[in-house]
Amino acid sequence: MSDHFIRTRSHMGWIEVIVGCMFSGKTEELIKQVRRARIAKQHTLTFKPRIDSRYSVREVASHDQSRLPSIPIEDASEIQTLCEKGTSVVAIDEGQFFGENLPAVATHLATSGRRVIVAGLDTDWRGRPFGPMPHLMAIAEIVRKQHAICRVCGGPASRTQRLVMGEENILVGSTEAYEARCREHFDPELSLRPLTGKAHHLSLSNP
Ligand SMILES: [Zn+2]
Repeated sequence: MSDHFIRTRSHMGWIEVIVGCMFSGKTEELIKQVRRARIAKQHTLTFKPRIDSRYSVREVASHDQSRLPSIPIEDASEIQTLCEKGTSVVAIDEGQFFGENLPAVATHLATSGRRVIVAGLDTDWRGRPFGPMPHLMAIAEIVRKQHAICRVCGGPASRTQRLVMGEENILVGSTEAYEARCREHFDPELSLRPLTGKAHHLSLSNP
């Protein structure tokens, strides 16, 4: 479906969104799409929020160690400034951490003829819609919703289960603090209950 869309609409810009819970392969899919665009000799730029310092500052990196050079930015408005005339594909990772102006920026880029690919968490650890992602899903031409594997039952997982207490919405890089779960086994209150579960045996340090 999306490949057909890309083949038949390649003269126009559009927005693609890759969403899912943690460990659902969003960044891997983003990297794959950018690599394919590069093989097709298209000029690509990849951005990520400056907050995400895991693995590498100037690269987008997936949990399976795939990497891509990327530009860390504070605000989505910087994307328009940094885009060059020949940039035809704009990739954005960890879209949930950007502000509410990201949909407007993506719309402007698509209207100006660019393919915009945004990867990000669709829900936070409480299961609530996360940042600008729901808005982007609504205005995108293509939405890829990915699933991970539920760590409890092995079924398709759509939720990010938080295992440790903390003030942050999503602790970047603290993959030990989260696991993927299905709707049945997702428990948003788990990390709010002190002295229960395996949360207190986990370390927040990232290897
Ligand atoms: Zn499950």
